[in-house]
Amino acid sequence: MTIHCEKCQQPLQLSDGEFICSGCGARYLAEACCPDCHQPLERLSACGAVNYFCHHGHGLISKKRVDFQPQKAQGGSGTA
Ligand SMILES: [Zn+2]
Ligand SMILES: [Zn+2]
Repeated sequence: MTIHCEKCQQPLQLSDGEFICSGCGARYLAEACCPDCHQPLERLSACGAVNYFCHHGHGLISKKRVDFQPQKAQGGSGTA
């Protein structure tokens, strides 16, 4: 799956926890999501290793399976 920049529609490259646009250089914070339910994962770090945990019944997700999604810019509209 390729993710594209909201601004210039160029493909984004995942680099060290964030997406960087190859076109305009925009950066998007990468959010770890569950590959099964697409909900945000809790990031657990222990002894230098990072694990991801799904609170929706999928348990620990190995880093290879984590589905990284670009986080949208923080909007003002709160969701309940
Ligand atoms: Zn761009
Ligand atoms: Zn899940």
